[in-house]
Amino acid sequence: MKHLHSGKVRDLYEMPDGLLLMVASDRISAFDHVLEPGIPDKGEILTRLSLWWFEQLADVVPNHLVSTDVPAEFAGRGVLCRRLRMVPVECVARGYLTGSGLTDYRASGEVSGVRLPEGLTDGSRLPEPIFTPSTKAPVGEHDEPMTFGEVAAEVGPEVAERLRRITLDVYARGAQIALGRGIILADTKIELGWDDRGELTLGDEVLTPDSSRFWPLDQWEPGHSQPSFDKQYVRNWLLSAASGWDRASGEAPPPLPDEVVERTRDRYVEAFERLTGQRFRA
Ligand code: ATP
Ligand code: MG
Repeated sequence: MKHLHSGKVRDLYEMPDGLLLMVASDRISAFDHVLEPGIPDKGEILTRLSLWWFEQLADVVPNHLVSTDVPAEFAGRGVLCRRLRMVPVECVARGYLTGSGLTDYRASGEVSGVRLPEGLTDGSRLPEPIFTPSTKAPVGEHDEPMTFGEVAAEVGPEVAERLRRITLDVYARGAQIALGRGIILADTKIELGWDDRGELTLGDEVLTPDSSRFWPLDQWEPGHSQPSFDKQYVRNWLLSAASGWDRASGEAPPPLPDEVVERTRDRYVEAFERLTGQRFRA
């Protein structure tokens, strides 16, 4: 087995038969930094949640999954998948406004070139879900928003339209299922790639707390940062006075205190259990 790549969160290997082994570690990243320490069980939680979502999305878009029969040391955290030629665009759908989308809206009234009505605030529901793609920045650089026109210039107008359609369809299915479990899917990022027959295929992970924002429906209240079952909790801690970290400094964030690690794990477990209806540890 050949090591191909280690991203901030996942390690990729090529198996002798050409399949890709994607292993989710317990590493957690925020603001483009890998934080210390990891979150216990996070890799397994994200892998199991992603697998569950691939099934829920099977009629929406084909995916890269082949099997979960992986070498013992990666059990629960690894999946075998088909190697795709990844589209160089992070495909983001937003149904609610927050995070970098909110920052861009406040500066320009637009997100990725999509003009939005006036008067929206942190946590506002958008009139309809929108496609807000961004660049796939190399390690150490930040993803930048792309307009639809920029995506079209990169991959062609027809493919750009298909990326938008698939992204919004995945969002719609995810949001509908989550809502049935009392969870708002505020936004999500997917990665698509071409398989060897030239089909646009869903790769990477999908609808996890790393790639999505999940908010408890009963506590949703626009006007401030929402309580969440995702890594917003960690981002908020990093930005709080308690962490002592200055995001603008470019320095690595301080280690996460035990309590922050524990609470973050609880949130990931809760996202998994509420969405799937399964216990994480029976
Ligand atoms: P981050 O997600 O933190 O920005 P990253 O994307 O560089 O970092 P990871 O998410 O840790 O890294 O690693 C997953 C990598 O594997 C991504 O680059 C993703 O595009 C790639 N990938 C996922 N599925 C496939 C696939 N089926 N074929 C080829 N590459 C894939
Ligand atoms: Mg990634």
